[in-house]
Amino acid sequence: MDASQWRAHAREFAEREVVPRAADIDRTDRVPDDLVHRLGAEGFLGVGIPRDWDGRGGDARALVAVLEELSRGSAAVAVLAAVHLSVCAQPILNWGTTAQKERYLRRLARGAIVGAFALTEPGAGSDTARIATRYAGGPEGFELEGTKMFTSSGVTAGILLVFATRNPSLGHAGISAFLVPSETPGFSVAQRFEKLGLRGSETTELVLHGVRLPRDALLGSEGEGLRVALGSLTGGRVGIASCALGVAQAAFEEMRRSVARRDGDVGRAALARAFAELSAARALVERAAERKDAGDSFVEEASVAKLVASRAAVSIASAGVDLAAPHGALAGATAERLWRDARVFPIVEGTTEIQELILARSLLDAEPGRKP
Ligand SMILES: Cc1cc2nc3c(=O)[nH]c(=O)nc-3n(C[C@H](O)[C@H](O)[C@H](O)COP(=O)(O)OP(=O)(O)OC[C@H]3O[C@@H](n4cnc5c(N)ncnc54)[C@H](O)[C@@H]3O)c2cc1C
Repeated sequence: MDASQWRAHAREFAEREVVPRAADIDRTDRVPDDLVHRLGAEGFLGVGIPRDWDGRGGDARALVAVLEELSRGSAAVAVLAAVHLSVCAQPILNWGTTAQKERYLRRLARGAIVGAFALTEPGAGSDTARIATRYAGGPEGFELEGTKMFTSSGVTAGILLVFATRNPSLGHAGISAFLVPSETPGFSVAQRFEKLGLRGSETTELVLHGVRLPRDALLGSEGEGLRVALGSLTGGRVGIASCALGVAQAAFEEMRRSVARRDGDVGRAALARAFAELSAARALVERAAERKDAGDSFVEEASVAKLVASRAAVSIASAGVDLAAPHGALAGATAERLWRDARVFPIVEGTTEIQELILARSLLDAEPGRKP
């Protein structure tokens, strides 16, 4: 299927199976197991993974279309798929050995297990070099010890990509990436946080206490963990930007309904502004995906897309609450849920300030007259 066929498939699925359950997912703070199962059965947990590995094929354009359409239905459902694909399955595809792909990628691509990515810690988020989860060991295997914060899908995940350092004094060079099955003794979910928005997406604190892993749990080489993390997060940002775009689209549609109900010019200018923001965000998300599909570097494009799409989602959803007044401010109103969901996007997978830093660094390295 090409990207437009994937979009149509995801739109139809989301309309039928996600939109009717979105309010419940938010209220109960849970994506039901049967819906996760349906996502896998429909192929949405295998987009971008080659058929050789039991995936459904599809390029980056297909992936952004699917994530946007799922997120237009429920941001929590889309974030589960985005994390699973962009920062768990893709890194295994890119850095995994044949044995790791046999063991984990096939099941991830079929949706038989859900994937997660655990980098952030109580004392390390934006500054990844500060991670304190330690590993020890060598040819006979490894042992992990530490705490991970805010891991998405931490309860549901069957396999987690976990980052740890041999010794914090080694800085970036000490960090390695490990594949940790959730049933490994010593792994536990310490708590699950209640959130403002993206409710249904599990945001968890995880403890790794004496977690023993075989030698082949290492993803990539020892000391290559930061490269794996940052490489994964670039794709991850495009995925999260697509989810933000889906919320922006849903908020825009909600706004349009509010404006259409009113007489006169009320809300028309705001609706036009929202459309312009949405158009810009969509063009930037698609540009990042096109660069990726062309095999070009897309680090800048990913940061621009994440920055603009998450801002557009917040801005459009906020205007949507105003226009749906007074009902827009009531708990349970669609406009209110979309605003709460939108508000989380500037924080996840690298905050807005971190995207600005990434961009500024690359702009200052480039020649002065360079155009985007
Ligand atoms: C809903 C949700 C889901 C998440 N899912 C995951 C996940 O699946 N896996 C995972 O590993 N992490 C996850 N995270 C963590 C998220 O990526 C981090 O919270 C985020 O990167 C910020 O890191 P931090 O929490 O350490 O905050 P900090 O880095 O301490 O940031 C706090 C504030 O300071 C600003 N700041 C920090 N450094 C600078 C700087 N140098 N210059 C200017 N401003 C700066 C930040 O922009 C932010 O506003 C999730 C977070 C949330 C809220």
